[in-house]
Amino acid sequence: PTERPLVVAANRLPLARAEDGSWTTSPGGLVRALLPTVQETKGSWVGWTGERDGQAEVVHADGIDLYPVPITSDEVDRYYEGFSNGTLWPLYHDAIRESNYRSDEWDSYVDVNQRFAIQIANIAPPHAAVWVHDYHLQLVPGLLRELRNDVRIGWFNHIPFPPLELFQRLPWRSEIIKGLLGADVLGFQRRQGAHNFMSAAQNLLDATELDEGLVHYEGRNVNVGAYPISIDVEDFELQASGRATRQRTAQIRSRLGDPEVILLGVDRLDYTKGIGNRLQAFGELLDQGRLDPERHVLVQVATPTREGVEQYQDERREIEQIVGEINGRHSRLGFPVIHYLYQSLPLDELIPLYRAGDVMLVTPFRDGMNLVAKEYVAAHVDGDGVLVLSEFTGAADELGEALLVNPHDDHALQNTIVRAVEMHRHERRPRMEAMRKRLETSTVSDWAKSFLDVLIDS
Ligand code: UDP
Repeated sequence: PTERPLVVAANRLPLARAEDGSWTTSPGGLVRALLPTVQETKGSWVGWTGERDGQAEVVHADGIDLYPVPITSDEVDRYYEGFSNGTLWPLYHDAIRESNYRSDEWDSYVDVNQRFAIQIANIAPPHAAVWVHDYHLQLVPGLLRELRNDVRIGWFNHIPFPPLELFQRLPWRSEIIKGLLGADVLGFQRRQGAHNFMSAAQNLLDATELDEGLVHYEGRNVNVGAYPISIDVEDFELQASGRATRQRTAQIRSRLGDPEVILLGVDRLDYTKGIGNRLQAFGELLDQGRLDPERHVLVQVATPTREGVEQYQDERREIEQIVGEINGRHSRLGFPVIHYLYQSLPLDELIPLYRAGDVMLVTPFRDGMNLVAKEYVAAHVDGDGVLVLSEFTGAADELGEALLVNPHDDHALQNTIVRAVEMHRHERRPRMEAMRKRLETSTVSDWAKSFLDVLIDS
């Protein structure tokens, strides 16, 4: 099966510009997941460098060929920030924010998808397996199919796929489904997403379901299934059990004033993550005296993201106001009750923080997977710790021993936080152990392998 060379296409290339101007691969989750496979098969990667009006020269780094797709400044506004992040992102996350539907942004999305398809068609070796990623590139499978009939085409959606009732709001809904049906394999984080896609394909385009997970359209069959993404569990465990991590973990606890319980939130500052609701619940519990600022502190890491988009600026203002109000009411001199970091932390700082966290709060309103939840579990090599997890995440399908919660229900959120804080170690440890066991059998390389097996054989 490895005879088919692999081509990965994603909005971003796994690259970062070094100080001397050269490129190196950057260690994001997807990169760590796919780089080994791409390297083994001497494969290539097609994507955007992240620069406005960037260059288009091929880069060789870490044993793979990287093919930049140049994107103009205007396209960054319309294709990326506009259609991808202002239309598709909120719509696919339960429409929790209003989407824009602008035809100039759609046109730009079509242009960029076309450019990706052409670039892939130009560089893919004969009979390659082409793996396209995410909501930015939903037209690529169909466009590429028209250019190259010899390649296998797979597409994986890292975010949720919405129910038909929401999806059909999109003025270009049929074009998108048609674009996706150009693939041989379509992968989703949850069965729910695969099911939602199936029903959109049947209702909007007369596709027919032949069998579970097999859809027929215009003379071809397309495999549709759930492939929950994961993390490099072994690597997290290794880093989490090192001496440096243990020392830093102890240092973090002491810097925070050695509280009885450290609660932790780690998210991109995105309105889908439910950060505000979580902070309000924590504040409410302090107001009621059910939590005590001398015994309970919250660390919230909020990573900067999409700062050019207005909804993200609003979300940030709102969260920072809530943090200020709660700290104003409940902090003591030298001991804030919420430690708020608007920063992106490197992994060697994040892992000790996970280990220091007695209770991890993961409460998105909607999230494709949520890797933070899995990372917290993997980092807890001590077998302790409590995970509070929103039912509306992909991770909830696999981490059933977490304390599952509906983040829209303020009372449930408060009660679950108290339950987590008070949970006895006799209950904590078996729950954590069960989650760790399951995670060890579904790592990110299992994820990549299971998708590629179907792609290569389909
Ligand atoms: N992350 C990080 N530094 C931070 C906060 C988060 O490196 O300060 C990483 C985290 O380790 C995880 C990813 O960002 O791998 C977030 O992935 P997740 O699936 O939880 O959410 P997303 O941001 O993709 O919506």
